[in-house]
Amino acid sequence: MEPERTRTGLCFDCRFAREIESSRGSRFFLCGRSEADPAFPRYPRLPVVACGGYEKERGAPQDR
Ligand code: SF4
Repeated sequence: MEPERTRTGLCFDCRFAREIESSRGSRFFLCGRSEADPAFPRYPRLPVVACGGYEKERGAPQDR
């Protein structure tokens, strides 16, 4: 199985991303920037390979 970082892309350790798990067990990410700026999708299509809003979360693990 692909590592989660690869499947998720930038949202994996972006400080605006919030991981959500649906009742059916699928996991996706909510982009916190979308609340203030509609240019960002609420639920970005993964993996996010390029994003102008990405900011690395401080203290995020380098790899998981
Ligand atoms: S700003 Fe970009 S990288 Fe960060 S959560 Fe939103 S879509 Fe993902």
